[in-house]
Amino acid sequence: MNRFSYARAVDVADAISEVSRDAAAKFIAGGTNLIDLMKENVARPKRLIDITRLPLNRIQETPDGGLRLGALVTNAETAYHPQVEKRYPLLSRAILSGASPQLRNMATNGGNLLQRTRCYYFYDTATPCNKREPGAGCSAIEGFNRIHAVLGASDHCIAVHPSDMCVALNALEAVVRVTGKKGERSIPIADFHRLPGDTPDIDTNLAGDEIITSIDLPAKGFAEHHAYLKVRDRRSFAFALVSVAVALELSEDTITEARIALGGVAHKPWRDTETESLLNGKPASRENFEIVAEATMRGARGFEHNAFKIELAKRAIVRALKHASKTETRP
Ligand code: SF4
Repeated sequence: MNRFSYARAVDVADAISEVSRDAAAKFIAGGTNLIDLMKENVARPKRLIDITRLPLNRIQETPDGGLRLGALVTNAETAYHPQVEKRYPLLSRAILSGASPQLRNMATNGGNLLQRTRCYYFYDTATPCNKREPGAGCSAIEGFNRIHAVLGASDHCIAVHPSDMCVALNALEAVVRVTGKKGERSIPIADFHRLPGDTPDIDTNLAGDEIITSIDLPAKGFAEHHAYLKVRDRRSFAFALVSVAVALELSEDTITEARIALGGVAHKPWRDTETESLLNGKPASRENFEIVAEATMRGARGFEHNAFKIELAKRAIVRALKHASKTETRP
């Protein structure tokens, strides 16, 4: 491991000041991804700024009827919070489908948004990887690419985003609140993560001097009709091959609003609002679910080992929609 210095930020302004001073500095909270990256020599921060004492560890109601999830609230505290369980069960289920209880007890909400891809080549410093070393090449495109992207990939990177929580946050249209040297701003979750393009080393639109302070959930939580379906190689402690977060509003059997977000298929949680709108005003029928599943995956492109994900995603979308359209929603 490389040598690094350590500082503990006393407040948000101090944290921003610390990280602005040194481009090679990184924030650390739960450390559930960063420490792995440091041990594997993938991340080599010169300075770690401990933000665990900042006052970002509460879940509060917002004036517009939503819920504010502090960036330092752990994933476990969020998933089991009574208001989240009652009003945003989609989020609770997505979080609990990820990682392990031990990791969820340590991992923070802000860190969940910033976790990096689990592409094997990214973690193997003996192989070329554009995300780790821009310009080096991508070992996955011609290599073993079973877990990789089928939507939104580029010639520079075909990695996928690993989070379950972020898939649900996209379906719920959460907003990420951040603070930096220029002040506060809000980033819709759909604009927070990036597609790889020709800069796959940049995962998010968070500026170098900014810190996530909270994730705001809108008032509408789709508690009645939702589903989170995760397809993976084993029952627990595995990343999604494909995951689907569905949130529906129904008037009797007619869909009045549909949201579908996918995980495990792209460099960011994938949502196609144009395709979702095909369901508006339509009966909640298998036939309509199949139409929207086909449309969602129409631009998908498979590689040597992952083409199966395209059909898998279509079937997962249909199944998740079917479960969400019932009152009992657990897939
Ligand atoms: Fe690196 Fe992305 Fe290629 Fe994986 S898919 S080897 S992360 S450039």
